[in-house]
Order: sequence, then structure tokens, then C-alpha cells
Amino acid sequence: MNSITGRFAPSPSGYMHLGNISVAVLAWVSAKSRGGEIVLRIEDLDPARSRREYTEAIMDDLQCLGLRWDRRAEDQSRRGEAYRAALDRLQTYPCYCSRDELRAASAPHASDGRVIYPGTCRHLTEAQRRERTKIPCLRVEVPDREITFVDGLQGPCAMSLQREWGDFIVQRADGVAAYQLAVVVDDAENGVTEVVRGRDLLSSTPAQIWLYEALGLKAPVFYHTPMLLAPDGRRLSKRDGDLNIRAMRERWKPERIIGLIAWLHGLTDRWETVSAKELAEGFSWDRVRREDIRINVNSL
Ligand code: GLU
Repeated sequence: MNSITGRFAPSPSGYMHLGNISVAVLAWVSAKSRGGEIVLRIEDLDPARSRREYTEAIMDDLQCLGLRWDRRAEDQSRRGEAYRAALDRLQTYPCYCSRDELRAASAPHASDGRVIYPGTCRHLTEAQRRERTKIPCLRVEVPDREITFVDGLQGPCAMSLQREWGDFIVQRADGVAAYQLAVVVDDAENGVTEVVRGRDLLSSTPAQIWLYEALGLKAPVFYHTPMLLAPDGRRLSKRDGDLNIRAMRERWKPERIIGLIAWLHGLTDRWETVSAKELAEGFSWDRVRREDIRINVNSL
């Protein structure tokens, strides 16, 4: 078995954009530069947002860019049983609070707008639970602990679970597993040893590291890559049509797209034409930029 396993974990809710592709390129070259393998896992947990045509488009785009995966894991929509088995091993409780109630209770908000759960439903009695008519979500009881870890790109990180997260949701009211739980259960099941993803998910990492521990699983190494920003500091997203992979493929050859990503992330000094395979040959995380990257889409 390979000692290094990376992964692509796209959500099929739209076409990939420059940010998603950057993450895929870095995940691929990181694993391949050390003889590792890549697992593709489709994160289609949310039935309302996931479309099969996007899954197909994503696979086609990855292949076109030379980013081949070695294995395809089961899609998340088919893994309900595994998530339920994990839930059974955690200390969870039903929560009936609505978003509005949480806001009104002026629960503190973390920097990214997350609601930090004040624990309202943790101590409801069985009788009080029976009185409720609303279908609850499930929250996990988190300890009052600080989680520390070293991100492969961002360096040492520390976060208090209680202050930054509170008891977080592990199963939504519609019965679907929450992202935090699913990603941990799946990365462990898929044998993933390194997770490369956007820095917007850095704040989720302590919650996930704690879940690994609570479930008796080994956590992977994390690399959180910089965000791509417009010149005014706004985050580039799928809405920026020009940086949608389909529009990019019409303008540039795959090696130009890989070259753009390599240059933006500091792997080359200029926007060159390079294949993913060539990029993997000399790859080192030491060269990858840590800071967010501002780009003027119109000047490309
Ligand atoms: N499915 C998530 C996304 O497409 C990625 C989750 C992860 O990398 O942990 O944004």
C-alpha cells in the first residue's frame, strides 16, 4: 500500500472554478511528488444542491487537466450507514433551536459568521424533548479544550472548541450527516493521509481533529491553501464566470491553466506552460505561497 494518499473532494454543485482547480492541482502534485496516490470522492451530501451533470463535468475537467485519480471512493450520498454508525459512537443530543432563535439569543459569532452554539438544548429533560414537535438536528457535546495542530502550509494553529465552535451539528434535521462528520468518517475510511484544501476550511479543522480523536481514528496532515481574491479583496467564486473551468478551457490549453495556477501559487516565476506531471517533479510545499492571492481577472 502507498504511504501517501491525497484526495479530491469536490461538491457537485457547480462547475469548478480557478480556486477549486488550484486545490486539486496542489493536492495532486503534493501526493504525486512523493509517489502517493489520489482518491476522488464526490461530496454530494446535500441532495438539493448536488447534480449528476456536475459530477460528470468535474471528472471530465480533472482528466482534461491531467489530474487523474487512482481510486474513486463511494459518493457521500451512499454512505448514510457509515455516518450513522459513527454517530452512535459520539455523545450527541437533539437540538430544536431555529436559526432565528440562535441569533436572538445573541450567540457569539466567530469571524466567519458561524453561530457558536450556546448549549441551549444540551440539558433538556426527556419530558421536555417529548413536548417538542419540531424535527431536531443532532449536536455533539464538545469538551472545553484547546485543539492545537501544525498545518503543513499555515504553520501552528490553536483553537478552543467551546469558544470557537460550541456543540456543533453532526446530523441535520433532514437526516443528512453534517459535512464535519462525513468528511472525517470518509477521509479515514478512504485511507487519506493528507488533506489539501482552501483556507476557508481552516477554522473547521480543529472540530474535525477532535472528531478523529473521539472516533478513535488517525487524523491526516492538513495543508490549507490561500484564497483567490479580486483586487478589492472580495473572494473569487463560481459566480466569477471567467474563472469557471468551462470558460477557461475555451480560452486556454490545459497546460496553460496548470501554468497559471503554478504561477499564482508561487511555484514558478512566470506564467509558463506546464503539465501537472512536470509540476510534480520539482514540487515542494516550501515554495507554495501562504498569503491570499489577489488577481485581476480582466488582465489575464
Ligand atoms: N467538498 C468541499 C468543497 O468542495 C471540500 C471539503 C474538504 O476538502 O474538506 O468545498
